[in-house]
Amino acid sequence: TCSACCNALRVMMERKLAELSLLRVVVEREDESGAYVLKHSLATPDGIDAACAQFPLGEWLKKCHPLKRDKRCPMHTNSRHIFNQADLWEDMWAELSSAQKSTICTVTAEELHDKLWQHCTDKHHLCKDCRNNVMWAYDRLTRKEQTPVGTEAEQEAELSSLQAYFDLDACRDGAICVHSSALPTILYHYEDTLAEEAESSTKGRHAPTRQAGLSEMLCVVGRLLLRKVLTSYQTSLEEEQNQQLLVRLVLSYFQTQSLERRAQQCAESLLEEDLGANGKTSKRKLKKERQKKRQEALGGEEQHVA
Ligand SMILES: [Zn+2]
Ligand SMILES: [Zn+2]
Repeated sequence: TCSACCNALRVMMERKLAELSLLRVVVEREDESGAYVLKHSLATPDGIDAACAQFPLGEWLKKCHPLKRDKRCPMHTNSRHIFNQADLWEDMWAELSSAQKSTICTVTAEELHDKLWQHCTDKHHLCKDCRNNVMWAYDRLTRKEQTPVGTEAEQEAELSSLQAYFDLDACRDGAICVHSSALPTILYHYEDTLAEEAESSTKGRHAPTRQAGLSEMLCVVGRLLLRKVLTSYQTSLEEEQNQQLLVRLVLSYFQTQSLERRAQQCAESLLEEDLGANGKTSKRKLKKERQKKRQEALGGEEQHVA
């Protein structure tokens, strides 16, 4: 396997069995020395063979076979670049668990602040007024003390715009929570803005109103979220591959042991037959003969009693 797979397996074996959902299908527990104890139902030659047929090692190894140049498997060669244009974030998003989704949708305020600042300065060179509108949206989100601006109707509209995308009550302790149901809308908004930008690259970027400032902030949030979706998806693919590899290696180890034991038993019984044929009586034969004699003697006694 590739070196990244080896490292991943090493880390994985240090994890608790409870975290390795796939391995728990075949392993009962870990003993005091940390060795995996096979499930009782699999502890027969047929049981282990059936499990190995379900998780064949050979087939899987092809999947994580290192490629020529950098000695890494396809997964680790393409790490962070595994996605091409055909991979849709919609599909990835749909496959993620709700726990993963809520992790993705929690962004640290500090990170967002840094990205917003980069967006307003280095990236788009917004003028001071536009920049203020963008940073106003950020301040509104992080609930910094603000003197209300605009009419009451404007304030209400701005608040409801924010509430549509962000869980304002959950935004605290430097964390910003996006409604996971709003993620697709935010990502589409980001993609649309990118497309518009590509079409009119000569025009400078502006955020002349507070709502436009919010829209700019949503773009930055969208970019952050998109990256998190890709990374999270990649991580879950790697986790799946590593767990699949681990369960196959463990089963294959038990199967090898089982085969060795069977071969040994086979050799022993052949040896016994061999010895028997050579005129020397094997222990088992001797034992059988002794039993026979005992039964005859017992039968004799019974007859005697009768
Ligand atoms: Zn690998
Ligand atoms: Zn401007």
